Amino acid sequence: MVAADPSQAQMTDGHGRRIDYLRISVTDRCDLRCRYCMAERMQFLPRDQVLTLEEIALLADLFVARGIRKIRLTGGEPLVRRDIADLVHRIGRHLGAGLDELTLTTNGTRLADHAGMLADAGVRRINVSLDTRDADRFAHITRGGRIDQVMAGLDAARAAGLAVKINMVALKGINEDEILPMLRWCGEQGHDLTLIETMPLGETGEDRTDHYLPMTQVAEMIRAHHALTPLLHRTGGPARYHAVGGMGIRLGLITPLTANFCADCNRIRMTCEGKIFMCLGHEDHVDFKSALRDQGLAAVHPLINRALRLKPAAHDFRISAGTPPATRRHMSVTGG
Ligand code: SAM
Ligand code: SF4
Repeated sequence: MVAADPSQAQMTDGHGRRIDYLRISVTDRCDLRCRYCMAERMQFLPRDQVLTLEEIALLADLFVARGIRKIRLTGGEPLVRRDIADLVHRIGRHLGAGLDELTLTTNGTRLADHAGMLADAGVRRINVSLDTRDADRFAHITRGGRIDQVMAGLDAARAAGLAVKINMVALKGINEDEILPMLRWCGEQGHDLTLIETMPLGETGEDRTDHYLPMTQVAEMIRAHHALTPLLHRTGGPARYHAVGGMGIRLGLITPLTANFCADCNRIRMTCEGKIFMCLGHEDHVDFKSALRDQGLAAVHPLINRALRLKPAAHDFRISAGTPPATRRHMSVTGG
């Protein structure tokens, strides 16, 4: 492990925001091809460009020493990475010793095989993406995925004692009629639910504007049936949380396009290639992999400071017909 240097233990960016949350995309690969996320024929990175388990673990050590208190593993699909169990255990060693929380975002297809491992490594909560509970729609949205695998994964998560939050991308004309049923189902299951606006990240071969559903509209629709009480609970992220009348679960609304959430952003993202992106919506990044491979870990410390200076005040997402994506990077590369 890397010894903490107390003089550098906290990271603050150029806009005075404390950075204590790191999301790591452990692979750009995925076993699904969600229409809003990826092109059908995605080109994935050659394996030698992807950080090894040891490299990810060393960088995680360094970030924890510099004041990161929460790490989320994501992708691509993190559970398709072959050495994921070793990585989760390796990073999990920091829990209670600098790291407050280790968590994961998954599409759930391989969760049945991994839920026990995650719980053993100290993971307590996970996000599972589920845009529909209808098998045919699921196959359509994911271009071929099987919903029974996700449902088995959710059962396994429950058996392992993992709390689950469902992530649902709200898609006009595709799943808008399922938002209320999904909310009620989450209430019955005891899962929190986060609804997400589609973000213009990377080409998918389809026009996202066709399916863009503003969260203001979604919130209005939900309020017609359920009382929503804004909660103070914040994660420094893009979601605004609400209690849903009588259900005992939290509803998060992620509004990158209808409301800017950047002022209290506390997070940075590392891609599976070792690039640190300070904002999902900007191309500025710092390349840790080259420094690590060419000069060793000591060369990475000063790069963290450079990355902190690069963090922009805000993203500038826009979504309208014919407007190119805000970045060429897909969410699966930067880590959603
Ligand atoms: N494969 C895992 C999964 O699907 O949960 C983790 C990675 S995925 C990129 C993380 C989250 O980003 C998912 O909830 C997904 O629905 C969401 N996502 C992907 N592309 C998006 C986009 N263009 N706009 C909004 N959300 C997106
Ligand atoms: Fe894969 Fe997640 Fe992207 Fe769907 S949203 S294609 S599951 S990375």
